[in-house]
Amino acid sequence: MLTRLVLASNNAGKAREFDALLAPLGIRVEPQSAFDVPEAEEPFPGFVENAIAKARHAAHHTGLPALADDSGLCVDALGGAPGIHSARYAGAPKSDQRNIDKLLADLGASDNRRAHFVCVLALVRSADDPQPIIAEGEWHGSILTAPRGANGFGYDPLFWLDDLQQSAAELDAPLKNMLSHRGTACRHLIDRLRALQTPA
Ligand code: IMP
Repeated sequence: MLTRLVLASNNAGKAREFDALLAPLGIRVEPQSAFDVPEAEEPFPGFVENAIAKARHAAHHTGLPALADDSGLCVDALGGAPGIHSARYAGAPKSDQRNIDKLLADLGASDNRRAHFVCVLALVRSADDPQPIIAEGEWHGSILTAPRGANGFGYDPLFWLDDLQQSAAELDAPLKNMLSHRGTACRHLIDRLRALQTPA
């Protein structure tokens, strides 16, 4: 029975969000900053491998079950870039504005502007768990030629949702959470955990 998890992220806000999401399942989520976990390597080209590596790293350093998330934007015409490099696409230091400028420059006048966000959640019950629990979410849209909207973060001002005729940065937070890659991945994780926590 899972009752306590460490979140493989130093973002206290993220840990609070996951804590609230998983509280109904009787699972408390604590940030890895509470345990002095050193920065994890993310050496892999894919979201799933990196999420698993981060979760194993946190479990190894805390002795607790661990949850990690990895997310980013994949643009079809750029072969899936920026992908796992989304946060630092334009190099260090991390800057949403420079990432947006670089994405617009790289896409240029391309007609193919299809893109999707990906979120992968990986949960390991121990550092050497042979069967990590993986939950994924995708959110499909296209890349605008200029930013629109002031909400959200990252690439939201460039992410156009044709059915809503709005960019992700024009949505309010509850609607974005309902539609987004992260929202979908969280719901899948909760379904998987509910099944595990329910006695057969
Ligand atoms: P991380 O998984 O928190 O490191 O996020 C990776 C990067 O992907 C972020 O820094 C953003 O640039 C981008 N990203 C992930 N999710 C979103 C989103 O919902 N909106 C906009 N950008 C996002």
